[in-house]
Amino acid sequence: MKSAILSVGTELLFGQITNTNTVFLSQKLNLLGFDVMYHYTVGDNPRRLEEIIKLAFQDCDLILTTGGLGPTQDDLTKEIACRTLGDELVLHEASMKRLERNFRQMNRPMTENNRKQAYMPSRAVVFENDQGTAPGFALEKDGKTIICMPGPPREMTAMFENKVMPYLEEQSESTIYYRMIRMFGIGESMLETRLLPLIDGQTDPTLATYAKEGECCLRIASKRPSRAEAKAAVDSMLEKARRLIGEYIYSCDDEELVCVVAKKLMERKLTLSSAESCTGGMFSAAVTGISGISQVFDRALVTYSNEAKMQELGVKKETLEAYGAVSEETAREMAEGLRRVSGSDVCISVTGIAGPEGGSLEKPVGLVYIGACYQGKTYCRKVQTRNVSRNWNRNYAVLSMLDVINRLISD
Ligand code: ATP
Ligand code: MG
Repeated sequence: MKSAILSVGTELLFGQITNTNTVFLSQKLNLLGFDVMYHYTVGDNPRRLEEIIKLAFQDCDLILTTGGLGPTQDDLTKEIACRTLGDELVLHEASMKRLERNFRQMNRPMTENNRKQAYMPSRAVVFENDQGTAPGFALEKDGKTIICMPGPPREMTAMFENKVMPYLEEQSESTIYYRMIRMFGIGESMLETRLLPLIDGQTDPTLATYAKEGECCLRIASKRPSRAEAKAAVDSMLEKARRLIGEYIYSCDDEELVCVVAKKLMERKLTLSSAESCTGGMFSAAVTGISGISQVFDRALVTYSNEAKMQELGVKKETLEAYGAVSEETAREMAEGLRRVSGSDVCISVTGIAGPEGGSLEKPVGLVYIGACYQGKTYCRKVQTRNVSRNWNRNYAVLSMLDVINRLISD
């Protein structure tokens, strides 16, 4: 179904707030199988608001609006939507009761303009607002539907997820099922090239690739009369995709790499420690972001200077002098030293040149070595990033560390 998203609010036109509602709704609608054809933004102006609604309905069957449902003078969306779809506002008893109860609970007097919020188009399907006072609604005329939601993102997202989505799913004759496949170590263009035999001429399931800060995602979606059919189509496509890109996949359920790794460590009861140079603790910050990780995460050492690498990890002075701090030899000795002090099952180390300064011809910015000790063996991976920025390089180093662990413990 062709749809449009209409944001109402002069603040948006002034650039005072970022239009996060439109981003949220676009993503959700696309996943639900609606084609989002237009994004409109209009100020709190009744004439222009009415014109835009009419314009959008020339091409679309569904408009989602956010903003302008509040109690004040400039909140006009409901009135204009109602008028444009040939309806009138009538008292909505359930909303009035809710409002009165809310105000009693807050111990605040209700003003006349608050009451205005309990008036709804007579034909509307009303959506309660669990996070605020202004209800939302859907109103239909001649096969065209407008859905109006409040502006504050917290209220809007809750209303969309809990009320609007079930409403839209009920209206729709087919269901969408999708899976988000996440990968590391493959670029988007390579991903597309490999998948070309599947993407070419494919109408359902559809495959869409996305790049995501050093990672890649693939969305496989199917729209069928029943969920079971859609799921079967997606799963069979996933199996075909696996044969082409399986080695890069770390999740078929849109999970972060750090979650996947943390879960595996916990399941296998493998303890973990890290020794970080260029990432300065970012790895341990990511890992300790996972609830329950204390079962397996032992320690993180940030050994930034050569002295720290020698004192804390026993990296040899000769190694540092001969090969430098950013080298395979140092990364290995860091991991081995960490293994001696921690005794953890998995010991991971990282040393690299984050940039933007400090690079050389021989050791360019973005050069990272990751060391790992596991089951009596020491491993090292050399990574050369595309040198985008200091933070990007450091993030990529963390992802690479997680990927190294994921591969070691999955074998
Ligand atoms: P209220 O009852 O708070 O007046 P409302 O439905 O009338 O709600 P607005 O007055 O248009 O909504 O916006 C309220 C606030 O919600 C804005 O100040 C802004 O912080 C946020 N907001 C509105 N529209 C958007 C949007 N498109 N993206 C992100 N935030 C928004
Ligand atoms: Mg308002």
